[in-house]
Amino acid sequence: MINIEAYQFLSEECKTKNITLVAVSKTKPVEDIMALYELGQRDFGENYLQELVEKQQQLPQDIRWHFIGHLQTNKVKQIISFVHLIHGVDSLKLLKEINRQSEKSDKITSCLLQMHIAQEETKFGLNEDELSEIIQQFDNSVMKNISIMGLMAMASFTDNENQIRKEFQYLKSFETKLSTVNPQLLTLSMGMTSDYKIAIEEGSNMIRIGSLIFGSRN
Ligand SMILES: *Cc1c(COP(=O)(O)O)cnc(C)c1O
Repeated sequence: MINIEAYQFLSEECKTKNITLVAVSKTKPVEDIMALYELGQRDFGENYLQELVEKQQQLPQDIRWHFIGHLQTNKVKQIISFVHLIHGVDSLKLLKEINRQSEKSDKITSCLLQMHIAQEETKFGLNEDELSEIIQQFDNSVMKNISIMGLMAMASFTDNENQIRKEFQYLKSFETKLSTVNPQLLTLSMGMTSDYKIAIEEGSNMIRIGSLIFGSRN
């Protein structure tokens, strides 16, 4: 069951503030996605590749699919023809494969670099040095079929608001580093159900919301 009221409230807020709302539909049925689609939602996010591929085939073609999970190099070719934005890029190897597959499909793929900002060891992403290195190597190589649009990150799973806020500020501080690869306004994908309000206060322009809209997951 989707929470229509919460969705409409959030959707209005995002429109007013020029924020892209990505509805995270992982584990949820295509019927729920369709219900939201009927309300005008077009940006949807999925974590699991196989699930994304199956849903994409069944749903309207004008949905903008965001891949927000950890993408394995050998799976890139399965989504490249239709994916709108890949959020979790954290290696040059992956960028190269995305470029190679995009060239074959004759398209330019938009990507976000994923940064590690949380305290937890387990979360994926680049640290400051790795970001600098990847940008430098990207500048020096020819990857015509990639467009780096900005950064993505997940904050720590904690009730400590100050900690979360600090982590979002830290992500925002890397914007300037990216100005060589993208002089335009950058996409900052940060904020989920539990922390999107803080993320917006700290400059997020893309939030990824699952449970608030679709209900909790098992
Ligand atoms: C699941 C997930 C979300 C959405 O989480 P909610 O807490 O349900 O809003 C956002 N981003 C990523 C990377 C996720 O894996």
